[in-house]
Order: sequence, then C-alpha cells, then structure tokens
Amino acid sequence: MLVRDGKILAAGPRKRVERRPEAKHAETFDVAGRVILPGFVDSHTHLIHAASRAEEYELKIQGASYEEIARKGGGILNSVKKLRAATRDALKARAAAALGEFAAHGTTTLEAKSGYGLDVASELKILSLHRELNEEQPLEIVSTFLGAHVVPAEFRTKPGGAERYLSLLMDQLLPEVVIGDLAEYCDVFCDRGAFTVAQSRQLLTKAKEHGLALRLHAEQLSYTGAAQLAVNLAAASCDHLEQVTDSDVRALAKSDTVATLLPGCDFHLGLKGYAPARGLIEAGAIVGLATDYNPGTSPTMSMPMVLSLACTQLRMTPAEAIAAATINAAYSLRRDHAIGSLEPGKQADLAVWEVEDYREIPYYFGMNLCWMTMKRGEVIHMKD
Ligand SMILES: [Zn+2]
Repeated sequence: MLVRDGKILAAGPRKRVERRPEAKHAETFDVAGRVILPGFVDSHTHLIHAASRAEEYELKIQGASYEEIARKGGGILNSVKKLRAATRDALKARAAAALGEFAAHGTTTLEAKSGYGLDVASELKILSLHRELNEEQPLEIVSTFLGAHVVPAEFRTKPGGAERYLSLLMDQLLPEVVIGDLAEYCDVFCDRGAFTVAQSRQLLTKAKEHGLALRLHAEQLSYTGAAQLAVNLAAASCDHLEQVTDSDVRALAKSDTVATLLPGCDFHLGLKGYAPARGLIEAGAIVGLATDYNPGTSPTMSMPMVLSLACTQLRMTPAEAIAAATINAAYSLRRDHAIGSLEPGKQADLAVWEVEDYREIPYYFGMNLCWMTMKRGEVIHMKD
C-alpha cells in the first residue's frame, strides 16, 4: 500500500505498488506479514457520559431488569443526573481516555450521540464537546443529536410532560443545534419507556426539515414499528432490531437504511434474543455493527469483541462481520466515499493486527490483537 498526504494512493500486490514512481522515495513501513484491515467505523456510541453504572450491573446480575432499574430512577436518568453534575473538563477527560481505547482497538472513526444532558445547556455542552474532541485528537467523530433519549425527570411529573419536552426539543434545542452546526444526525430512542412512534416521527420529520440526516434506536426492548418508520423516513441507520418482524426485514432489505446491530448490549444485559442478522443478510439488508459504547447497556470500546459476538451469537461469518464494522458502517455515516475500505483515493485509515489470518481477530475473543492503528496516514496507536 502506498500512502501520501493521508490518503491511499495505491493498494495491491507489492510489485505493482512499488512500480509506481511515487513509491521511489517513499518511507517504508514493514508490518511483517501481519493482517491489515480498514480502521473500524463505530457507527453507534454514547461517547460523552460522566461515570460507569457498575452499581446497576450488580443489580442486573441479581435479577433486576433494565426497565425495572430505569423505573426506580436508575438507567439513563441516573446517567443524566451524573452528567449534569459533572464539569465540562471531567467529561472531556473521560471521553478523551475512551477515545484512546477505541484507537487501541483498531477504531478510526466513531459516531457519538448526545442524550445524557436532556436540557438545553447540557445537550449543547455534549455536542460542543464532540466538536472540540474531533478537532483536538486524531479520531474522527460524527456528531448525533439524541435529545430524545428519554423524557427527563423534571418533565415526568408535569401533565403532558413528554409532549412539553418534545416541544422544547423541536422549538428551542433543534434550532440551536442547527445554527451552531453541532450535529449531522438526529436520533430518537423509540421504545417502551422512551418515545412512541408518533413522537419519534414528529421530531425526526422536523429534524429532516432542518437538514439533519436521521438515525433511530428501534425495536430493542419492545416492538413498536420504529423500523418501518426509519425506512419510511429514509433514515441512514436503524439500530438494535432485536424485535424486528419478517415484514420489517423485507422493508429494510428494500431500503438504503443500514440495519445496525449492537450485540454488545444483549451480551452485557444477559439477554438471549439477539437480532436476526442472518435473516437480514439473506434478505439483502445492509447490516452494520457497532459497540453502542454506553454506561448502562454496553460498556465496551472493543470492536474486536463485537466481532466475536457477531460471529458466535449472530452467526455472521468473520468476513461479514468485518464488512459490517467497516464499509457498511461507513455507509451509514455517509462517509463510504472516504473511509471503510482500503482503496485508492480513500483516507489511509487502517489497523494492523497481530494475526496470520483475519478470522483470528474474532476467534480470539476478549483479546486485543491490534498492533498498530493509523488515521489519515498518521500512526495513532502502536503496541509497545
Ligand atoms: Zn444507543
């Protein structure tokens, strides 16, 4: 592979690449037979949050469900309380450390959602941190506005609280996000205990009018019809999908909406009902994979672990899983022209793996065999 100015100039058999005139004075970097893949594109994360929820992890192991914990003020609202109390510097330091971990596991681009602020100031604080981190460190961050994560506590006690919160999102927050150019995407958590399909449609339609592209948390804990909504609104991605029906699978297959699967969530919550990856792939849907890095349901920055889960639990082949975590995820972020594969003209975003065969990456589960990570031609992680 020949890299110049952060981009791939040529890729292919050594002889052909070395014959290029530009190769003559190039600095050589020998990876000694290791496997090179495109850098992972993690298309679903909740990067900015204040703390772990290890205390809830223990309750879940003892038998409390995610929704029971949420009803008692735990869950997302617990993270909201912690985020509102955290300083901007503390949030930034925690996210920066996480970004280092993402890079160390071969990720070169990630999507990041707001959604633990749920008031104007806190949501804007998160989104502006996305921008700041994108500028100040090498990983590329794609910002998503998820003000509609859940209805915040202060609105739950008011009559028509959910509707009033939605109005706040549509009339105050969304225009600020757009004017400040703070997000490319708008997302909604459409599920039992969060927002209904009608509410989601209302907000996403408004976001679309403002020029934002759409993503949607759909069919995770309960069946709502959100996947069909994502397809109808031509969303870039529709994520989770544990509860999808055959007709949803057919609709996704006919659409350009990426079906992004997040098996880390089911694994962490100890749930057995993984999304029907095989059905989606066989129907012709575009399947993506992401970590869903977040403190409540998927505390991991490891895409290799997600690949292991995709192979053993979703029955995806290693090649399907890698495509889902690279080029398909890049498509869901509308960056497939620039990232997601090792082709001339694309950014030199790649990861080198200490394996002899790419299948060994998911095969050795719970291990990190990433040897080196490169973003736009710069080494951003090197195993010591
Ligand atoms: Zn999520």
